[in-house]
Amino acid sequence: MNSDLKFDNTEIAFSQKSSSELRKAYLMFKMMSNPRWVSLGSNLALFGLKTRLPLIPQIIKSTVFRQFCGGVNRSDCSDLVSDLNQNGVKAILDYSVEGQESEVQYDKKTASIIDSLQTVNGNDGEAFGVFKPTAIGAYSVFENALNTDANQDTKEAFERIRKRYVSIFNEAARLKVRILIDAEETWMQDSADLLALEMMERFNTNDLIVYNTFQMYRHDRLEVLSSWISTGRNKGFKVGAKLVRGAYMEKERERALKLGYNSPICKDKQATDNNFDNAIHLVFENIDHCGLVIGSHNEASTLLTSTLMKEKGIEPGDPRISFAQLFGMSDQITYNLAAHSYNAIKLIPYGPIRDVLPYLIRRAEENTSVAGQTGRELTLITKELKRRKILN
Ligand SMILES: Cc1cc2nc3c(=O)[nH]c(=O)nc-3n(C[C@H](O)[C@H](O)[C@H](O)COP(=O)(O)OP(=O)(O)OC[C@H]3O[C@@H](n4cnc5c(N)ncnc54)[C@H](O)[C@@H]3O)c2cc1C
Repeated sequence: MNSDLKFDNTEIAFSQKSSSELRKAYLMFKMMSNPRWVSLGSNLALFGLKTRLPLIPQIIKSTVFRQFCGGVNRSDCSDLVSDLNQNGVKAILDYSVEGQESEVQYDKKTASIIDSLQTVNGNDGEAFGVFKPTAIGAYSVFENALNTDANQDTKEAFERIRKRYVSIFNEAARLKVRILIDAEETWMQDSADLLALEMMERFNTNDLIVYNTFQMYRHDRLEVLSSWISTGRNKGFKVGAKLVRGAYMEKERERALKLGYNSPICKDKQATDNNFDNAIHLVFENIDHCGLVIGSHNEASTLLTSTLMKEKGIEPGDPRISFAQLFGMSDQITYNLAAHSYNAIKLIPYGPIRDVLPYLIRRAEENTSVAGQTGRELTLITKELKRRKILN
């Protein structure tokens, strides 16, 4: 690879962490490497919050919440955002509340997303706005809206979701704030994609405002991305692409097996990796018509992107290309990218502990694989603790 980047500098990676914070992170990832602890902890947390056991919120707050969330509200995150900014890292603040299901709540959520765009616009430390489709519309509506037999209620509810999208992107376009739209399960994604494409056609003609998420563990996504880019070229709009591998693999495979259709997921990890890297190549071939966010903790894909930037003579800080990692994970990538002047971003979830619990449980479950993320985090933290002579 023809890149100057290296991710083994743990001194840069953890420059923001005190030794006591690192020790706590070490113990937490160690516990998360044990699936039994994760399962027990998740059940206990759900039970404790439901029955209002007094100690449980405190325990969650000082462990996983502290590691993976910025706080309960936006203002809790402000010191963190400015610390990151001083180190060349921008933030995306994500109100990660899941499972709130009423039209009133969807409207409230839409209003709070629109409000937050003002803050993103006024704060040099924030790079993008973000939202999850099912935060502003019922899951069942996304799931059924494109069915030929969708009933009138569903059609009307989908129309209300469309209006919420338009009001969010109208304000984003006015303020020139870029927004990432998250991707979810395949069985609701087609209608979310339809809206995302409509928004791109409407708002991405001059600036790049709308970024949709492409989950490259899906074997059909390369073709979809390619067709969106062709449509964009023909109709005169740009395509904002946030590339991720995808977070719902087990759920997708189980449902496909249960209902007897072909799994939408690539056959193995290597196939997902190839698909992801092919998508990076595709975007670079069309970089004059695209914006790219690499949402990944994968070092090889990050290196590939920086190599292609170098080969094409694209400056590290070029606004068309950004790299994002989740808060609490892969600091070696974020901080080493920032040290080389790339657009490095941390996605910081926030919200009341009770409401961000599903997000926290997903992170803990994702981290149980020792061969995967936890192994990487533990190796790096251990290396840094040894460098600081805290571990032998
Ligand atoms: C900033 C950011 C935003 C994100 N937003 C979203 C989002 O909107 N929607 C979403 O779904 N996810 C999202 N994710 C999560 C993401 O999809 C991945 O789950 C996570 O980042 C791990 O993938 P990786 O590229 O970091 O690392 P890696 O460790 O290299 O890859 C792990 C991933 O590879 C895939 N994989 C693993 N084993 C197999 C297998 N046997 N067969 C096929 N594929 C396999 C899975 O997708 C798994 O998550 C986001 C991640 C980041 C960092």
